[in-house]
Amino acid sequence: MGAVTPDGWLRRQLRIQADGLSGHLDEFWTDIKDSKWFGGNGRGWERAPYWLDGAIPLAWLLDDKPLKSRINGYMKTIVAKQRDDGWYSPFPADASAKKYDLWAILLANKVLVQYHEATGDEKILKAVMRNLKATDKVIDKIPLFNWGKFRWFEGLIPVYYAYEKTGEPWLLDLGKKLRTQGYDYMEFYNGEEVTVPTKRRGRWTWNKHVVNTSMALKAYALSWRLTRKQSDLDFPAKMLEILDRHHGQAGGLYSGDECLSGKNPLQGTELCAVTEALFSLEQLVSLTGKPAYGDRLELVAFNALPATFSPDMWAHQYDQQANQVQCTINPEHQWTTNGAESNLYGFAPNFGCCTANMHQGWPKFASHLWMQTPDGGIAAVAYAPSTARFKADDVPVTVSLETDYPFREALKFTVKAEKPAKFPLLLRIPSWAKDATVSVAGGSPQEVETGAFHRIEREWKGTVEVDLRLPMQANVSRRYNEAIAVQRGPLVYSLKIGEKWTRVNADKPHRELPHGDFEVRATTPWNYGLIVDEDKPEESIAFEERPIGDKPFSPEGAGMAAKVKGRKLPDWKLHRGWAGETPSSPQTSKEPVEELTLIPYGCTNIRITEFPLVENGENGSEDKSK
Ligand SMILES: [Zn+2]
Repeated sequence: MGAVTPDGWLRRQLRIQADGLSGHLDEFWTDIKDSKWFGGNGRGWERAPYWLDGAIPLAWLLDDKPLKSRINGYMKTIVAKQRDDGWYSPFPADASAKKYDLWAILLANKVLVQYHEATGDEKILKAVMRNLKATDKVIDKIPLFNWGKFRWFEGLIPVYYAYEKTGEPWLLDLGKKLRTQGYDYMEFYNGEEVTVPTKRRGRWTWNKHVVNTSMALKAYALSWRLTRKQSDLDFPAKMLEILDRHHGQAGGLYSGDECLSGKNPLQGTELCAVTEALFSLEQLVSLTGKPAYGDRLELVAFNALPATFSPDMWAHQYDQQANQVQCTINPEHQWTTNGAESNLYGFAPNFGCCTANMHQGWPKFASHLWMQTPDGGIAAVAYAPSTARFKADDVPVTVSLETDYPFREALKFTVKAEKPAKFPLLLRIPSWAKDATVSVAGGSPQEVETGAFHRIEREWKGTVEVDLRLPMQANVSRRYNEAIAVQRGPLVYSLKIGEKWTRVNADKPHRELPHGDFEVRATTPWNYGLIVDEDKPEESIAFEERPIGDKPFSPEGAGMAAKVKGRKLPDWKLHRGWAGETPSSPQTSKEPVEELTLIPYGCTNIRITEFPLVENGENGSEDKSK
């Protein structure tokens, strides 16, 4: 925190966020404004710490003075109200009389150490140490249960941070205790139950809960720092593989509405699961050094994350769908356990957890773009315009990245060392980037290995430019019911659909504009199958660069578009207010061939992403070919 600053479109995106709900939520939402954490009489559970978890990096990355000043005040209150026994004020005074789920405490400590990293305020670290001591004592008597039990590993983050600052050995014992008392996801993922989609109106379970799942992606890699068991370090990749195989969604995640619900593109993915998966993937790159987690981090950050917000980031969804052609209050919905409003764009559709926890997505992505290497160098683990500052053997070094990636293929790095310094610069070469090239200091472009970190080790003097080119090629994959999805580089492409927004729930509390609730309906047809040569997709899909808008993730601001041919499938209709079940592929259609426009998934508000494949048969072939 503080070593990386966002530039270009990423800074604009963070500004949009700070000017939207994230930068103003504490001014009017009683769950935060009047929170017990902040000295009020409102809620004392997860919502205020969740908001801080994203608002802190957002405010510090932008150096947003009013937001920073309010946060400083809240943090002061949290510390001032900490009791002599180490407990924060929402913890019941007589803890022995009432079992208290420690989840919000684990979360609050994670938030407090992030604030300590941003500010260096020693009072904060002392408060965390006192609370961890109290936690260590209480879990001997009342072991973790409910949320605390299923999110035990979140506690490892403040425990490790405190250990690195103080070296006190009891902290590592506390870390081991958290794992011993915590839920055993490894055992669950060795069984069959995790592979079974939760049924419509089915049973809500802790271990298939999608936010728990996203948080748990990092659990065993974090735990590996204590155990040093290779099986712990390897488990997250196995977990992701199981999730992709049984619940994978085109936008980069898995379904969960709100428990894991299979591969159907009509099932939803909860926003909290998106932001928590991003943080887990950031931790996984750091813990394992594996570039594949960086590929996945970008996939989620550039697709699932922006798709689920309105372009101005005042409204969000609880659940997003890969095939989402209508977002309305719908009692006929087919969510597993979520409610009728789950895919509305609004202030708090379905439940307020995402309203509280949506803020960390972009800011933490920005602060984790660059990481230091164990041998004193620096690694670009994900790409967006930014500047990183660090010291190589006491020499101040600045590395900036100028780029419009992921909407463009060119990335220009400028390395400035105040004195000559020898260190490695590592660039992640995504596994999709065939024929990627790097050129250093005006030298000729060299082909580099994909799916690896490319290492440039040299003495850096003055200003040196490094050019990286990541050629993007169309890739078509088969998904649910043999439907096809189109990806090019880190961006997934969806049908651009005309949309009509209608305000709803205007009389509900906290829905004063600009933070209202909206239904979205399609104004153009969406029921198309695509005519694509799966083996040579570049020959059937033409990609073109467009100007990148002020709002990069909006239908109008999309920096890329694709033209592809397709035909309508008249039998594919709205069913219960949703796109009906995806027709199996291949389909035949007598409808005329039309040219369709696809734009990046993250730029859409309503979309089709998984298309039936249409055979380009005799009937209805293009007039000009007759
Ligand atoms: Zn949520």
